[in-house]
Amino acid sequence: MKKDIAALLPEELEEELLRLGQPKFRAKQIFAWLGKGVRDFGEMSNLPRDLRDKLAEEFHLYRPKVLSKQVSRIDGTIKYLWELWDGNAVETVVMSYQHGNTVCVSSQVGCRQGCAFCASTIGGLVRNLTPSEILDEVLFSQLDSGKTISNIVLMGIGEPLDNFDNVMRFLELVNHPQGMNIGMRHISLSTCGITERFGDLADRDLQLTLSVSLHAPDDETRSKIMPANRGRGVELLMDSCRNYFERTGRRISFEYAMIDGVNDTEYHARLLAKRAKQVSAHVNLIPLNHVEERQFQPSTQGHMKAFIKILQDEGVNVTVRRRLGSDVDASCGQLRRKIQKQGEAREGN
Ligand code: SAH
Repeated sequence: MKKDIAALLPEELEEELLRLGQPKFRAKQIFAWLGKGVRDFGEMSNLPRDLRDKLAEEFHLYRPKVLSKQVSRIDGTIKYLWELWDGNAVETVVMSYQHGNTVCVSSQVGCRQGCAFCASTIGGLVRNLTPSEILDEVLFSQLDSGKTISNIVLMGIGEPLDNFDNVMRFLELVNHPQGMNIGMRHISLSTCGITERFGDLADRDLQLTLSVSLHAPDDETRSKIMPANRGRGVELLMDSCRNYFERTGRRISFEYAMIDGVNDTEYHARLLAKRAKQVSAHVNLIPLNHVEERQFQPSTQGHMKAFIKILQDEGVNVTVRRRLGSDVDASCGQLRRKIQKQGEAREGN
């Protein structure tokens, strides 16, 4: 099988070129072409023709295709559905804020975590994304939209810590000074709580923000809506968060989707406040996005207000996330799911 050239760092590319009997400086040229979105060795016009042919024999290159692109009329949020080389599809969302443009990338095709409120996990996990496929989500979103990406959130389809090595390599690539050069402080990685990996992540000593999708502060509620909690539990999650914070000095944020009648009572608010203070976490509240296949509904405005007040009175640092792109299916897995369903409907006809 041919190697994936877009997953190599410049220093590794140099080694490959030395192996092919080429001077090192070619590596820089190739890395620059790849960074411009060139996905055809024939277009790398400053390389000798025989080298271009040789590269095409040794390496494969693929350019993701735009299967669909939706632009929100409300806030300009752009949602892409990309077709990968094997026909699978993943979503990427570009959101514009005052402080810059944020891209929300997928890390897997599908997901095996089974969260009860989430659309991404409905068909299970199909496969991991490769490092270059994740990088391409950022690169081609920027090139297609013309918006310079300054922030990345790993909050699209998939569980990043379930695809650990590829996600780590993606981070190295996107952070590289000769590449997109996006600083780790501008990157957030979101997890449903794969605690076994928190230590490995802390070992990397990255300056990124770790977001934990908590969604419930007690085992009874959390295990009901998040199978990842079963066999791990909230106490272990809190210990892992505290360890991570102590080792890295980086404050964790808790994601909390407010679900009507499920996790939005006074009891939940008080326990959440305690948990957040235990590990010095910031709390990010979001009203649940209703997913057609799921029975859950977002909390009422009144319940959200009361919930926020309890957290604030307890001195917890809390923000409510603005919903962007509500008219373009811009939440986890909704667009991919919609296209899947259209396919299912066609097959059924
Ligand atoms: N697997 C990772 C990252 C992907 S999901 C994780 O679990 O964190 C990004 C965030 O969106 C997570 O916090 C996830 O729980 C949340 N989410 C999923 N479905 C949602 C929905 N219908 N409404 C609101 N948030 C949702």
